Amino acid sequence: MRLLYLSFILLLFAQCAETSSPQTENQPTESEVPLYVADMHYGFDFNNWRTVHGKINNGDVLSGVLSPLGVTAVQVDQLIKRSDSIFDVRKIRPNHKWACLFEEDSLAKPSYFIYERNAKDYVVFDLSDSIQVWQGSKPVVTELRAVRGTITSSLYNALDDAGAPAELALEMSSIYAWTIDFYRLQKEDTFELLYEEELVDGVPYGKQNILAAHFLHNGVDRKAYFYDQDTTYGYFDEEGGSLRKAFLKAPVEFSRISSRYTKKRFHPVLKRYKSHLGTDYAAPHGTPIVAVGDGTVTKSSYTSGNGKYVKIRHNGTYETQYLHMSKRAVKVGDAVKQGDVIGYVGSTGLATGPHVCFRFWKNGQQIDHLGEEFPPSDPIREAQMDTFMVAIEKLERLLQETLPEVVPEAEVAVGDSLVEG
Ligand SMILES: [Zn+2]
Repeated sequence: MRLLYLSFILLLFAQCAETSSPQTENQPTESEVPLYVADMHYGFDFNNWRTVHGKINNGDVLSGVLSPLGVTAVQVDQLIKRSDSIFDVRKIRPNHKWACLFEEDSLAKPSYFIYERNAKDYVVFDLSDSIQVWQGSKPVVTELRAVRGTITSSLYNALDDAGAPAELALEMSSIYAWTIDFYRLQKEDTFELLYEEELVDGVPYGKQNILAAHFLHNGVDRKAYFYDQDTTYGYFDEEGGSLRKAFLKAPVEFSRISSRYTKKRFHPVLKRYKSHLGTDYAAPHGTPIVAVGDGTVTKSSYTSGNGKYVKIRHNGTYETQYLHMSKRAVKVGDAVKQGDVIGYVGSTGLATGPHVCFRFWKNGQQIDHLGEEFPPSDPIREAQMDTFMVAIEKLERLLQETLPEVVPEAEVAVGDSLVEG
């Protein structure tokens, strides 16, 4: 039996050493595993060990992987018990990498088994008599990258075409949510980005952080710089203004809240569940109702319940709605600024007295805006301004230095407008 194991192990070693021979998918050679620090992997110097590598096959359980490597059923059993609090071995997944370490003079009995939980984190099983299990993480290296692109169909495609991770589109739309209507991106809008990318074993790990951006939209170069202002950080324009804007606290001045937002609750008098997904502001008939933020009117209509109402989309996340108006002052498609009058207080629809039922939507769900923590929108403070200016000058320089070379035509089109802005 022991001889059988030994020959099996030797067979595996033969495969590992013979790099020119065709490899099965499950047994990548050592050379396929990228190195980060010499031959250190998982905290082991691979020069001191004989190693076997593989990937978990479909349907594999831990014992199925370990027994051909010379680990006994008793050991596997102990190992499962020991790892209980650290890693549930039933969670090993197909295509995840593993490695097995053997001492040079003990080829039949592996010393360590390592399983990669993901590209970064792994679990080490010490197979010696004292069987122990611990977790480790590979070092994450952050690299500076830059990309420029032109929108022809979508931001996703533009990033993809430029060879950048398409996930950056999400981050960009969040940075510019308040300044650019991403529903109305235009062909030939262009952008430049400076971002950090996290790498593990030289491979992108799927996390990027945008440090600086230019977005040329409607002929305006909108800049965004990441800056950490003491405890609050965010994106600011070249004058230190926050790229986020705060909403007005209420859509009518000199009003009082007559009814708050409540999720379904049992009404003791009506003896039924009743929810109120808005905040009512009582005010005299005819009081102007204003938009709580910049946006586009998406509805200006009438229903028997809402009465005359207006709905505004502010960005990809937030919408607001104003009910029971006596008169509407905007139509669908109108662009409104914060504070613009959009209608007047009334009691149309299901209303007992003059008030605005103000409804706040976040990602399509009605929320209580009074309980919502909005991200900070303060500008750079006067005392921080000099430091901020130095920081964004550096970011700007890094962006230009890191951007790839462009073909001459594109350079004129993109370069000119961006340099002047
Ligand atoms: Zn209401």
